[in-house]
Amino acid sequence: MRAAVIHEFKQPLTLQNVDVPVPQADEVLVQVEACGVCHSDLSIADGDWPQLKRLFKIPLIPGHEVVGRVVKAGSSVIDLAAGDRVGIAWVHSSCGACDLCQEGLENLCPKQTITGVSVDGGYAEFIRAKASHAIKVPEVLTPEQAAPLFCAGVTSYRAVKLTGIQPGQRLAVFGIGGVGHLAVQIAKSFGAHVIAVDTTEGKLKLARDLGADQTLHASSEGIGKTFHSMGGVHAAVVTSSAKAAYAQAFYAVRPAGTLMVVGLPAEDLAFPAILMREIKIRSVATGTRQDMREVLKLAADSKIRCLVKTCSLSQINEVFDKMRMGQITGRIAIKM
Ligand code: ZN
Ligand code: ZN
Repeated sequence: MRAAVIHEFKQPLTLQNVDVPVPQADEVLVQVEACGVCHSDLSIADGDWPQLKRLFKIPLIPGHEVVGRVVKAGSSVIDLAAGDRVGIAWVHSSCGACDLCQEGLENLCPKQTITGVSVDGGYAEFIRAKASHAIKVPEVLTPEQAAPLFCAGVTSYRAVKLTGIQPGQRLAVFGIGGVGHLAVQIAKSFGAHVIAVDTTEGKLKLARDLGADQTLHASSEGIGKTFHSMGGVHAAVVTSSAKAAYAQAFYAVRPAGTLMVVGLPAEDLAFPAILMREIKIRSVATGTRQDMREVLKLAADSKIRCLVKTCSLSQINEVFDKMRMGQITGRIAIKM
């Protein structure tokens, strides 16, 4: 089968033929229809995450936003069969037995395997997946619409959900990229008054088109005052990895509000302790299978739509180059 493979960090992916994987008894073999290109794939290929390097399988097929059809089910698989459309996310498997799994926090399981990191991902014609972690995808969604939901979608969904936002409350999204443009729509579906913040006019326009109630240019002078005069926001979801966005969000949150860390700056984040005002600072790490089902339902009910463009597998290195230069709006998905 054709695949794009990482052999060495900081080198272009190699397009080559590799063997079709053989599913184990508890696994399914999936023919990939689409695989979203996440910024994390670029970070993985560039070796930017030394903390994760010990987990890496090398050579590695990246890609953790995978949608395709089951073509073969292992002998012990009972709830999936050939022909089912499924998606495979970042968490390739979790143990089900540890404290975190037992508490419903399988996304934090220390024994998890990771798609496109510790096991091969979806930049290929076929992938094998644990039947327990392959999630059925509603047929009303196209593969390229559904694929980005498996990382960008589930992450933004869980981020908004964990803020505890209630209908009528104010929620600001900082950074209207692949994750942020979904967070705007998800927050609307929770009934929030949504304020979108970005540094580019085009992305603010996109946010308005997607239902944001208010947009603010991040470099406008009065932005701090604007947040102050509305009494601050109940929650700020920061999808930008710019340190400046975190500084702005910190002052935008009202007392007892929540600052949700989604975008990951390379440097540590620091906030002045004396000004904490009972603010809660939380982070999000992808999502659970239940979150995944909930975000798929939102998409199937047309409450959210992902702005997605497609490319072919052979264009992946060009897509990575564009991503390095910040030239991508919304999401790119490889169409197999
Ligand atoms: Zn991702
Ligand atoms: Zn576990």
